[in-house]
Order: sequence, then C-alpha cells, then structure tokens
Amino acid sequence: MRFISTRGRCEPLGFGDAVATGLAPDGGLFLPEQLPDLSVRWRSWAGLGYADLCHAFLRIFATDVPDETLRGIIGRSYTRFRHADIAPLVKLDARTYVLELFHGPTLAFKDFALQLLGNLYEHQCRERGQTINVLGATSGDTGAAAIHGLLGKPGVAIFILYPDGRVSPLQERQMTCTGADNVYALAIDGSFDDAQTALKELFADQDFRLQHRLSAVNSINLARVLAQCVYYLHAWLRLPEADRSEIEFVVPTGNFGNVLAGWMLQRMGVPIRGFKVATNRNDILHRLFTTGEYRLGPVQPSLAPSMDIQVASNFERLLYYQLGQDPARVREVMATFKCAGYFRFENFDRDCFTSTRCEDVEIPGIIRRVHQDYGYMVDPHTACGFKELARDRVSVVLATASPAKFPDTIRAAIGIEPRDPALETLKSRPIIKHKLAANAADIARFVADHAV
Ligand SMILES: *Cc1c(COP(=O)(O)O)cnc(C)c1O
Repeated sequence: MRFISTRGRCEPLGFGDAVATGLAPDGGLFLPEQLPDLSVRWRSWAGLGYADLCHAFLRIFATDVPDETLRGIIGRSYTRFRHADIAPLVKLDARTYVLELFHGPTLAFKDFALQLLGNLYEHQCRERGQTINVLGATSGDTGAAAIHGLLGKPGVAIFILYPDGRVSPLQERQMTCTGADNVYALAIDGSFDDAQTALKELFADQDFRLQHRLSAVNSINLARVLAQCVYYLHAWLRLPEADRSEIEFVVPTGNFGNVLAGWMLQRMGVPIRGFKVATNRNDILHRLFTTGEYRLGPVQPSLAPSMDIQVASNFERLLYYQLGQDPARVREVMATFKCAGYFRFENFDRDCFTSTRCEDVEIPGIIRRVHQDYGYMVDPHTACGFKELARDRVSVVLATASPAKFPDTIRAAIGIEPRDPALETLKSRPIIKHKLAANAADIARFVADHAV
C-alpha cells in the first residue's frame, strides 16, 4: 500500500519510507492512499489475541515489510506489557466499560505506538545498514514512552529534551533512570516551549540533520496512528455482539491522536456508533465540536498535563476527509489557520462525535465518584473521560494512564495513594541527566558529541 500527504504535494511513499520520514516533505501528514474495507474481514479476526490481531491489521498497510519480519516486530513490541490481554477491557456496569491502556513499560497509552515504532526503526536501521539519532522535546509522557521504545537498541541513540524541574518526579525518573547507554535525557533550563523552539532550530539546519540522520519523535507518525487502531478493534471484538453497534468510545485527548485512530477504524467499516472527545480545560477540540470553529487559545497547565495542548496536530488528518479528500482545500485551510489563528467550518460533519470539557476543579470529584460507584481508580486524564457519559449508549472509556503515575492527585481525591512496583523500583535507581541551556548551539554540540 502507498501513503499520500494530506497536502498533496509529494509523491506517495511505501510504508517503510512514510514511517521513516514522519512529517511529509510538503508539511502534510501521511494517510493511506485508500482505506481498506474491513467489513469483510473483521468477523474472522474475533478470536485473535492482541499481537495476532495487530499483525492481521498492519499487514494490510505494511506491504513492503516481509510478513515474518512484521510478525517478529509486533511480537517484540507487546512482550513488555504486564497484562496477558495487553489492553484489557474491564466491565464496570451494563453500560460502562474501561479499556485499560496503561500496562506497557511507562504505564501510559503511548507505549502502544512507541514500542512498535522503536522496533520499526531498529528494523530499518538494520536493513539499510545505517544508524539513526532520534530527537524529541517532551513535557512528560511522550519522552518517557519514546525512550522505553528505543532503549538498548543497537544503531539508535535517543535524545529527549525536557524542561528541568517542570515534569513530575516520576516522569523524570522514567526518563533518567533507565541505565541504558543510548539514552540521553537533556534537562533544559527553560520551559517546554523553549526546549521545543531550540529543537526546531536544530531540525531546520538541513546539513546537521542529514549529517547525523536525525529523526523526530512526535505524535504525527503514521505508524502511531495505525498502531492505535488496533486496541479499538481488539476491544470492540470483545464486546457482546448486541452492544457493538451501540458503542461510544470516550477518549481523553489533546492532540486528537488517539481518537483519530478510532475514527479511521470506523471509516474502514467497523460499525462503531461514535466517539466522545474528552478534553481538559484546554478545550480547542470541545469548542470545535460544539461550535464548528477551530480557534487557538492559550495553553493552561492542568491536573491532566499530557492533554495540555492547543494545536491538535493530528487534526489535519480528519480535516482531509472533512474537506472531501481535497489537498488544495487542506492547504488553504491550514494557511488560513496559521495566519488568523482560527477557522470556521461551514458544514463540519459532527455526526459521530460528541465532546466534553473538564475543568481542573472537577477532576478530584470525578475520581472520588468513580471510586465510590465502582470501586475503580482512575488517573486525572481518564477522569476527564468520566465527566459525563451518554445515557442512551454503551460507553467504553479509554484509560490512558495508570493512577500510580499521579499519586498526589489521587491521594488528595480519595485519601489512598496508588502504587506500582515498576515505579517503586525506579526510586532506588540513580538519576542520570544532562543539564543544558535552552540554546540550539549547545544542544547541537551535545548531540554531535554523542550521536551514533
Ligand atoms: C498523551 C496523552 C493523552 C493525549 O493523547 P492524544 O494523542 O492527545 O490524544 C492523554 N492521556 C495521557 C495519559 C497521555 O499521555
């Protein structure tokens, strides 16, 4: 299968090249040239375990990866999950389920995509006889998940920039206590935006980028979206048949990355009723789905920090379909949005979406209510999903992080401090980080000195 850019100004690429490239050269995002029709296949997939289902799904797209190689890559990607079901579906009552996406190595849903991406990168390095240096800036979860996707991989080094003192102590430990010698956690003196700006400067230097074969960690890689489709399908196939077409997936989101994957699966012919987009106080997506206007606002820090985002980078993929798969229109809308900071949609199709916004002051109360009603503990991101569930459908709430990652918020809400053995072990390991100024030249020197 080939992959095209949402902006239509570059040649379609195969799976391997689209994954290696990340962002399309014309500034757009990659999408399958044609979405497959799964309505003829999903029935035969009902009994498959997670890795087998992932293989059955991805082989439709990754046609340039030999089948046995693909199977190996996928197998390795889900062995470090600590639950036999990988993505267990927990029933709270007849109309409410939780899809637990936090049993991977960093206890958050990003492991599903980044474990796979790490193994894909490793395979490409080997096949092309090259090394790569992966760079990213993070405000927490993405950096940790990327590091754990790549740690110890031969031929790959990873450099993650984060704002010193501004990520949670546990998140910092997940990035700095790995003991792996191909991981560099760079504690930047400044904010997340300062780190991001310095990183953009590094990537803008074409010679430097090519010389060190730099690759970016970000949420827009095609492989991440496809990897995320699988847990929706896995959960959907495990629901009672009578419920399946009544399902609304409730997705705590900031970047639209997670919910986009579910929506694409629906477009491929899996009869899901709809999606609830659950935002925190950073509500650009909630405003879009309630008013039809996509308008940038300031980012406000919240108790669900991994959703503190205003520009939803994956939104461009939805936009492409909303605008009748017309790349010229996508370019036009993105240009207008870039200079005006907003865009008004005339006929935005919201049929399969609902949305909610959750203020910070509401989060502890929701954690308490879910714990009282079901004896179930949710982290602050998942709590945003529980704000308001539909009465006329069956809800599957995606639990995007383990409560053990946010002990302070949980203790304040219900007086219990959740613990996880993996996080406890981290506390006894030494922190290894490199402090650097938020300055592109200093960071470039560090990368040049440590690159593989
Ligand atoms: C990254 C993250 C999210 C938001 O993911 P999107 O890609 O923006 O949908 C939600 N919850 C947690 C715990 C995360 O780490």
